[in-house]
Amino acid sequence: MSVHHQVSSSVVLCLDPKFKAVMTVPHQITEKLQALEQETMPVLKNPLAFTIFLISLFVLAASILPSILPRLRLFTSQIPPITSIISTASRPHTTMSASDYNKELHVALLAVQRATLLTKSVFHSHAKGTLSKSDASPVTIGDFGAQALIISALQHNFPDDEIVAEEEAKDLRENSQLRETVWDLVQSAKLNDSTSEDVLGGALKSADGMLDIIDKGDSKGGNKGRIWAIDPIDGTKGFLRGGQYAVCLGLMVDGDVKVGVLGCPNLPVSDSEPLKEGIGADQTDEEGKGVLFSAVQGKGAESRPLAKGALSEAKTIHMKPLSNISDATFCESVEAGHSSQGDAANIASKLGITKPSVRMDSQAKYGSIARGAGDLYLRLPVRKDYVEKIWDHAAGDLIVREAGGQVTDTEGKRLDFSHGRTLKENKGVIAAPKDVHAHVIEAVKTVLGSK
Ligand code: AMP
Ligand code: MG
Repeated sequence: MSVHHQVSSSVVLCLDPKFKAVMTVPHQITEKLQALEQETMPVLKNPLAFTIFLISLFVLAASILPSILPRLRLFTSQIPPITSIISTASRPHTTMSASDYNKELHVALLAVQRATLLTKSVFHSHAKGTLSKSDASPVTIGDFGAQALIISALQHNFPDDEIVAEEEAKDLRENSQLRETVWDLVQSAKLNDSTSEDVLGGALKSADGMLDIIDKGDSKGGNKGRIWAIDPIDGTKGFLRGGQYAVCLGLMVDGDVKVGVLGCPNLPVSDSEPLKEGIGADQTDEEGKGVLFSAVQGKGAESRPLAKGALSEAKTIHMKPLSNISDATFCESVEAGHSSQGDAANIASKLGITKPSVRMDSQAKYGSIARGAGDLYLRLPVRKDYVEKIWDHAAGDLIVREAGGQVTDTEGKRLDFSHGRTLKENKGVIAAPKDVHAHVIEAVKTVLGSK
């Protein structure tokens, strides 16, 4: 085989057809190579001539290198690095196909819908089975029941995933009457669509099994792998008062929220109903009360009516465009112990906002601004030592950001869900439409900095 053929064919063989043109060896080079081939045989028999031949080979190589180098670079840039070939081949199938999160969203929506129906049955009964936890916050039979139902559905579909959930089963293990009440509640909570029930894995098997399921929510969280965050009833005080509350579920992958779902049974279905104190209170389910909010990273946010069986049809939601910040409606906690209402009033006045705040419990605040019913959500630390919990924010954070908002802490830092069960690197929460968020943070810093 001639030198010419070796050079040109080896290049062409390695190439994708679309790069053939780029790598065609130039004429001057092939001519020089052909001449070289004819001179080669006699020269190899004479040592002096062989040395001269080597030197001329070197000179030739040096002269053609500048013209061939860019083409070689282009060629090698088309070859993926070996490390990427190895890592793609060894990556588990779940990671490669999980990027759409369609199944995760579907399961999360149905699980939250079923758990929300359970909490509604407790909401409408007088005996809510309220206990006081060690941190003095309340927990009800609805919290335990909703957590059991959601974890059971997640375990059925994603048995290897970790779960960070707010409640634990200790009180139920120590109190058999309470355990039986929760067990009755859990057994009677079913979606009236058998296909949807099957997706969730159907009913739980036993009361003892239910306790173990509740305790599966004890993951430490962190920045590795798939971790679900559950708040079975966020805003328990609102739940007990007859106000807003939310059933919350978020999926984090390597500390980043990918899927978020909020069940808000006491908010109106209509996205256009303006946000006001006591919203939904005088409305019945038949008149259009009860909504599910959801989002998948990179795919936008949606709302749909809360249903009793299969999922209702969804609508895309967006934050409201705000041409003038002074027209904003802002919301905050009902509980003055959860967010400084004085600081919020000062920030609002700095921004020229004259409307009074809308106070509502739970992540219903995130859902309400994501659908454009309100504009801002301010959560301003009351105590220096309080650290926010990831289950109180994971779903809401994603839903607002996917609806066109920005969510940060009071210093303008993104909420960081990769530090375990708490948001220990953040203080407070400021959520606003993207284009006015920096302006709101400026006002927050001025007011908090002057204290
Ligand atoms: P919200 O209904 O928005 O007031 O928030 C309810 C959540 O506030 C509960 O789920 C608690 O985890 C959380 N919480 C409890 N104590 C505090 C506190 N001192 N500061 C901020 N949030 C708190
Ligand atoms: Mg909560």
